[in-house]
Amino acid sequence: MLKRTQRLNEIDDSLIGKTVIINGWVDRMRNLGGIVFLWIRDRYGLVQVVFDPQKPVYEYVKNLSNEYVVAVKGIVRERPKEAKNPNLESGNVEILAEELEILAESKTPPIYTNREEGNEEARLKYRYLDLRRSALQHNLIFRHRVAHLTREYMNSKDFLEIETPYLTKSTPEGARDFLVPSRLKKGSFYALPQSPQIFKQLLMISGFDRYYQIVRCFRDEDLRADRQPEFTQLDLEMSFADQSDVLEIVNGLVKKLYEKFIGIDLGEIPIMSYSEAMEKFGSDKPDLRFEMELQDLTNETFAHEMKFLTPSKGEALKSIRILRSETFSRKVLDSYANSAKSEGLRFGWVKNSNGDLSGSIAKIFKSAGVNLDLKNGEMMITCAGKRSSVNKFLGSVRLDAAKRLNLVDESSVKALWVVDFPMFEWNEEEKRYQAQHHPFTMPYVEDLDKYSSDPSKMRAHSYDLVINGWEMGSGSVRIHTKKLQEKIFKLIGISEKEAKARFGFFLEAFEYGAPPHAGFAMGFDRLIATMLGLSSLRDVIAFPKTTSGTDLMSDTPSKVSETQLEELGIKSEVDE
Ligand code: ASP
Repeated sequence: MLKRTQRLNEIDDSLIGKTVIINGWVDRMRNLGGIVFLWIRDRYGLVQVVFDPQKPVYEYVKNLSNEYVVAVKGIVRERPKEAKNPNLESGNVEILAEELEILAESKTPPIYTNREEGNEEARLKYRYLDLRRSALQHNLIFRHRVAHLTREYMNSKDFLEIETPYLTKSTPEGARDFLVPSRLKKGSFYALPQSPQIFKQLLMISGFDRYYQIVRCFRDEDLRADRQPEFTQLDLEMSFADQSDVLEIVNGLVKKLYEKFIGIDLGEIPIMSYSEAMEKFGSDKPDLRFEMELQDLTNETFAHEMKFLTPSKGEALKSIRILRSETFSRKVLDSYANSAKSEGLRFGWVKNSNGDLSGSIAKIFKSAGVNLDLKNGEMMITCAGKRSSVNKFLGSVRLDAAKRLNLVDESSVKALWVVDFPMFEWNEEEKRYQAQHHPFTMPYVEDLDKYSSDPSKMRAHSYDLVINGWEMGSGSVRIHTKKLQEKIFKLIGISEKEAKARFGFFLEAFEYGAPPHAGFAMGFDRLIATMLGLSSLRDVIAFPKTTSGTDLMSDTPSKVSETQLEELGIKSEVDE
């Protein structure tokens, strides 16, 4: 085999007049009535190779086609002035071929490898070909570089990278477990970890002080575009540390990554309480790239003159201002009205058209004599009802309106911490409270007594990192005493017996000197996608699954043989 002397990014002016050997794929071919031009591609670059009809090697070029793997020996030469290609890194030069070796043939590829065309299903089925596209190569190389710098940073802060098992006992992160049947212990199952949560806490109890891992997690959930059944986290845990220590480490990391790879200084990353985020932005992951805060009118003197919008006791009356109402057709406003109604809310809108108030609730404001101070063209959307539903609804209006008004500067990046989440949330299906983060999270201990009659008001020492309206990661200060941990289990309806069966080993560990500790985990796929401005995680994972959890390339999941099932002690279903 003609073995390469240069990678394709190395073919440049400095090699003019020299003989080189290159290896790569035929990216495309052009036959200009005699002379044949090939573009050869490898991971590093693209180079033009010229086949002159006068040379013996020309004989072989007609056998070639796209995606053949070739070795070419030739002389580097400067391109004629008019043929220089400034869009190509090697565009100043080309290689005049002297020898050609076909290293592998290729059938006509079922998808394009040099442009993003064709349906996504076909591209996922032939993922190894799709991965030849320069955009995907770029994304995965970018991901590698981010992972590298992440490790360097964590190492520099004395974190130890320690692996934790994949065949585990269930860890509660709120999703379903993927189960793996045991052959040696028939009828028993491992769970794939939803996160290394319990193990990293045990590592703190073991005295490792600072742990991290770039680790795969598995959650059997209904998938959306931004979810994958197996995904990667940057997971970390610290001993003798509280929230401020974790935030400092994570701030340092994301600031460094954004500065190095995106050239953006994230500045001071603000901290906002969950309740402030909900009140001002109607979301626990507010996108701060634009303002449009919700206004609370509940305590205004005119609130009780708002006719059907008048808030009754305990309710909220809130609004959001939209600067350019002309983009909001009646159809859009009707759809807002409908979704408000379906949430059990009362809804109305008012706008200033050439100095006059119009809209579904204009009359109400007029008769109450309220000066809304709306400028010409400005609109106010108002709703009343249960406070949490009002916030959520106006939060979604805020996002939708920003999209319609093009308010989001896609090149800007806004990060923030949302802290003090509720400790519990109500699970309507199971009619019980469940931990909003996970049950190992430290509650505000004073809230436990204060709100004992209403656990939904208890706050947790937990925190989320949000970037551009995406939840990038979550963490919390942990409970480190058995007594408190048992109390929390009890509050979420886990009986002593169940706690012992599921977490007995963990509770026992607390009895042997557990240091105070806190931690965090960042969605690594999500971080990479956000940094690259991509909306689909599939674009940053080499071999992703579809939204139905399938790997189209290998047709997984798939049936297994009867023998395998028998060995595992699992009866197969007869699916005639
Ligand atoms: N284990 C948590 C999660 O996966 C993160 C943490 O609390 O450290 O969301």
